[in-house]
Amino acid sequence: MADNMYTPQNPVEQYPQPPFEPQQQSAPGDVHAMKPEPDHGETSYVGSGRLAGRKALVTGADSGIGRATAIAYAREGADVALSYLPEEQAQAEEVAQLVRDAGRTAVLLPGDLQDEQTNAEVVEKTVAELGGLDILAIIAGVMPTVDSIDDFETKTLDHVLKANIYPLFWLTKAASPHLEPGASILTCSSIQGFQPSPSLAEYAVSKAGIANWTRAMAQQLAERGIRVNGVAPGPVWTPLQPAFVPNEKIETFGSEAAYGRPGQPVELAPSFVFLASQESSYISGETIAVTGGTPIH
Ligand code: NAD
Ligand code: MG
Repeated sequence: MADNMYTPQNPVEQYPQPPFEPQQQSAPGDVHAMKPEPDHGETSYVGSGRLAGRKALVTGADSGIGRATAIAYAREGADVALSYLPEEQAQAEEVAQLVRDAGRTAVLLPGDLQDEQTNAEVVEKTVAELGGLDILAIIAGVMPTVDSIDDFETKTLDHVLKANIYPLFWLTKAASPHLEPGASILTCSSIQGFQPSPSLAEYAVSKAGIANWTRAMAQQLAERGIRVNGVAPGPVWTPLQPAFVPNEKIETFGSEAAYGRPGQPVELAPSFVFLASQESSYISGETIAVTGGTPIH
């Protein structure tokens, strides 16, 4: 792994490439059980005050892309509230410590976002403990897979939509009265939302929905000076993969990207910083592809 993510170098060779060791976890997964462990920027991300004084809520903040985003936000000067599932408490506490190490305030918010009331409570506790909210990064997601329509089960689609789509509406509704001009809402789509794999239909439709919601909400909130943007990652080395993808597929994970390797969570964080910061003032409704060279449109 590269010592310094800011040193110009060949990005294709910058981070681990397949083949990977076969590995399987049960959801929601643990970053420390991954071989190799993902890079969330713990030792690599250096901030420069781009989000100084901002107050952020990040969902899925214990691991993967959300963890990398929470670390980056803190190092860029933001206080960060961390939303995650109760069984991820130990990982979330590590992120909270990294936020505090950056000199910022961390708020720990365990809870299942498939429940509407939990979404409202997560926002209210954020506002109460941070004194406001101006960056809402909705990154949590699930990816249960079925290969064939013959195996389709209603409960799978219910779970995917409840976890991946409903919190967009519930969190944003709860946050709305607190958001001032200059606030940003961030979403996490996927390359799957644009180029679906045959075996990921329920997940892919949710990720297409997230990009679509991003476009709709950006127009709705433009008159209030609130921007809404998203990121569409390609394959990223996070616990989502061994938790939801069959063991044998992990070995070649990321080989389908033009780079031939998966992204590391830390490679997603700068896009979530850019879209949250005022430097992207004229961008709203956009979903940026961070896919290792594979086009999404
Ligand atoms: P991850 O498993 O590390 O993070 C997902 C997080 O979602 C979990 O840590 C958990 O805290 C949270 N979550 C799941 N269900 C929840 C619920 N019911 N209530 C509250 N929180 C819940 O994996 P990741 O890859 O970092 O995933 C982050 C986002 O990135 C997801 O939306 C995922 O769809 C998206 N994504 C990932 C990839 C990839 O290859 N890893 C590619 C494209 C998009
Ligand atoms: Mg997790």
